[in-house]
Amino acid sequence: NEVIRLSGIGKSYYIGKEEVPVLTHIDLSIREGEFVSIMGPSGAGKSTLMNILGCLDRPTRGSYLLDGKEVANLNDSELAYTRNRKIGFVFQSFNLLPRLSALDNVILPMIYGSLFKKERKERAVKMLESVGLGDRINHMPAEMSGGQRQRVAIARALINDPAIIMADEPTGNLDSHSTREVMEIFSKLYEQGKTIILVTHEIDVAAYAGRHVILSDGHISKDIRGPLP
Ligand code: ADP
Ligand code: ADP
Repeated sequence: NEVIRLSGIGKSYYIGKEEVPVLTHIDLSIREGEFVSIMGPSGAGKSTLMNILGCLDRPTRGSYLLDGKEVANLNDSELAYTRNRKIGFVFQSFNLLPRLSALDNVILPMIYGSLFKKERKERAVKMLESVGLGDRINHMPAEMSGGQRQRVAIARALINDPAIIMADEPTGNLDSHSTREVMEIFSKLYEQGKTIILVTHEIDVAAYAGRHVILSDGHISKDIRGPLP
């Protein structure tokens, strides 16, 4: 089952009238349940590609089918639904709201859903427990370590049960111990059947994925299935 198909995707930025191509021509198909790393040198276009995959940014040209639907044809509410329900985002800098507790950060994405307040809370507690933070639910982000904050962010990303997880350098601010904890959560999610797309420049982190897409100069230079050589 194909969940993502990019065909001839290009993305340029314009500085005045000058075109700055960032992605030149991307063809990429990702099947349900794949765990894909995206690697490449700084400036290769990894974040740009991630933003397009996450429907956070639009390509300049080409076609993006998500679950068989052309993303360019989605209206604003369909796009919002996609970003809130189909995809869970994890970022390098966690992006937690600093004035909300771990619990309230995880509850937040459910506010547009149909659950009652009590059910939302129970579900968020359960999710925090599942990432090993059952004893931290009332902590504020500033009171937690980087690894703990990232696990809160993962719980938040998972709370609406998205089929796809997109993570952009999720271990970029973590020490090796927290990196391992976070990557073991991703491994479990993979075993549960989630589709995972992970941008990283760390080989040890990419090694958790089963497929490795290498970007250079705005195109895919390698697409490796199986372990990294
Ligand atoms: P990576 O994540 O691989 O480091 P990015 O996707 O962040 O690469 O950036 C790729 C290129 O696009 C870089 O040269 C960057 O300077 C340029 N770029 C990114 N965002 C913008 C923007 N909003 N306007 C102009 N250029 C941009
Ligand atoms: P359900 O709600 O279907 O009964 P679970 O309670 O097992 O299933 O899981 C609820 C959610 O928690 C699911 O979206 C699942 O992906 C997520 N989840 C389960 N285990 C973990 C884990 N170890 N780390 C992160 N998320 C998890």
